[in-house]
Amino acid sequence: MTRFVDVPAMSALIQTLGVTDFIGQLADAIESDFVRWPQFEKSARLASHSDIGVIELMPVSDADRYAFKYVNGHPANTGKNLFTVMAFGVLADVSTGYPVVLSELTLATALRTCATSLVAARALARHEAKRMALIGNGAQSEFQALAFHRWLGIDEIAIFDVDSKASDKLERNLADYTDLRIIRCNSTAEAVRGADIVTTVTADKTRAAIITPDMLEPGVHINGVGGDCPGKTELHPEVLRAARVFVEYEPQTRVEGDIQQMPADFPVVELWRVLGGHAEGRQDDAQITVFDSVGFALEDFSALRLIHAHALRLNIGRDVELVPETDDPKDLFRHATAHSPHRRIRRVA
Ligand code: NAD
Repeated sequence: MTRFVDVPAMSALIQTLGVTDFIGQLADAIESDFVRWPQFEKSARLASHSDIGVIELMPVSDADRYAFKYVNGHPANTGKNLFTVMAFGVLADVSTGYPVVLSELTLATALRTCATSLVAARALARHEAKRMALIGNGAQSEFQALAFHRWLGIDEIAIFDVDSKASDKLERNLADYTDLRIIRCNSTAEAVRGADIVTTVTADKTRAAIITPDMLEPGVHINGVGGDCPGKTELHPEVLRAARVFVEYEPQTRVEGDIQQMPADFPVVELWRVLGGHAEGRQDDAQITVFDSVGFALEDFSALRLIHAHALRLNIGRDVELVPETDDPKDLFRHATAHSPHRRIRRVA
């Protein structure tokens, strides 16, 4: 049987664990999988583009488990009351090929994305970071805010979105976190001023330059989340040139990340190398660091494994017969009619 975790089940799981505890567990799981990076069979995701969006398949595996995610990116969806990003995915057993969990991944993507941002910032941001700018206050934004507040000690977040209703919603959703100070700003430049960390999580299928060189302050860490697709960027090329740039999986980020604007030999460091002690992260307090996040399949692999373990332990979700249960695997045909009322009726007749 396959454990099925739909949205109500995922919501129950998040509430049982607590959203920030779950983010912390995910960050640890992602970090430990990144450290054993060479053990994974990896590929850049397979993307199907249209004029208004993208649909992607993201596979990855190790010796025991195989995972894939189906995910979209449609910035105009919110105008139709649909999410810009939604997803679902499967974790399977490599020894049999059978799926062990089929899960919603819309909520889980937001959680694993902020957890990955956290993993990068823990390794790259200055230790005394206290203030973050959060540009783009849509679906992902609360998760980013809470991850950095709870696990990195950020206690002040300056927010800006071109849609003031998105910022209203963010303020409302975080109102209970009374030790987190939210500062409304009228522009990106205003929000970014004096920030130790700048998180950009905007959605617009265009080559945007939301962060420009004049906004850079020494020692800032930029967590660039929304530039994640060909023709969709957030950082001015000179911002990238001024920084030490870190990526998830270089072949994928060269095509999808903000570094798509840069020459093919523009220097980047894969994050796993820093986490595993193979490469330097931040080299001094004044250095500008950029995590050019696009989202890599391994983060969903880590999330699916954690979701599966918690779903079984807490008895959340339910088992579904996604593959026929059998004691005679050469007789598939009987399953074609076993549940059919028509067959029973014909027999009676
Ligand atoms: P969303 O549509 O819910 O929110 C995006 C927000 O950005 C909107 O409120 C919009 O008004 C705002 N925005 C657009 N242009 C802006 C600008 N120039 N300045 C300020 N605000 C601006 O989308 P979401 O689900 O929150 O996703 C945000 C982005 O993150 C998307 O681009 C998505 O593709 C990306 N994403 C990346 C990862 C990853 O792993 N790197 C994972 C999930 C989502």
